[in-house]
Amino acid sequence: MTVHLVGAGPGDPELLTVRAARLLAHADVVVHDRLASLASSLARPGAELIDVGKRPGAPYPQENINALLVQLGRQDLEVVRLKGGDPFVFGRGGEEALALAEAGITFTVVPGVTSAVSAPAAAGVPVTHRGISAAFTVVTGHRMTGAESVDWESLARVGGTIIVLMGVAHRGSIAERLMAGGLGGATPVAAVRNATRADQQVVRCRLDELATARLEPPCTIVIGAVADLDVTAAAASLTPAVAR
Ligand code: SAH
Repeated sequence: MTVHLVGAGPGDPELLTVRAARLLAHADVVVHDRLASLASSLARPGAELIDVGKRPGAPYPQENINALLVQLGRQDLEVVRLKGGDPFVFGRGGEEALALAEAGITFTVVPGVTSAVSAPAAAGVPVTHRGISAAFTVVTGHRMTGAESVDWESLARVGGTIIVLMGVAHRGSIAERLMAGGLGGATPVAAVRNATRADQQVVRCRLDELATARLEPPCTIVIGAVADLDVTAAAASLTPAVAR
């Protein structure tokens, strides 16, 4: 019937959109990856949950996911394809949308809160800040070579905040190339892992320390002067007092 490509936000269920929650509560089938607990807690009892999570060593090819969505969409079913963050930010949601369009299946897109902005916020880092950063660039650190790879040396000269998703594995070469492009070794870095979840971790360092920083995926890495800020530090200590 209809396939909804739904952004789930960075992890905290309260950061789901109202529409995402409503569609989840009514869906017959939820196709998700790595969001099993969120999907099962918000889906209606009896809904079918299909995990297509791409695990290391056990990849679920994108073509199979596209084919599955097309096959489900042809049936008399309300289908939610739940994706982390926003479906169109490095989520391959565009490919799924095109596959559905090609097959003539009705679909909708529900934007989500992307980790590119919400993970820094969860660490108290505003991605723009008056007088400090007037722009932010979101890049993938996944591909270091080839046609789709990022021109890191040029990016270093753009100015503003650099936000790297999927950058943990190549953080050493990312830092090296940004410094080769002119960014100072003392440029602040904040890496946020599992942002907005109970096990959120924040690591702060300098750009010339990034290569050896102890990081594990999934991290959002923020590079630039704003990474030195923690605007929520004061708020966090005030909140309990207000609540009391
Ligand atoms: N569509 C997603 C991004 C998918 S790519 C979005 O809009 O957020 C996956 C990458 O996103 C991870 O490797 C990591 O860099 C980042 N990411 C996703 N969830 C995250 C979280 N809770 N905390 C920090 N980074 C996260």
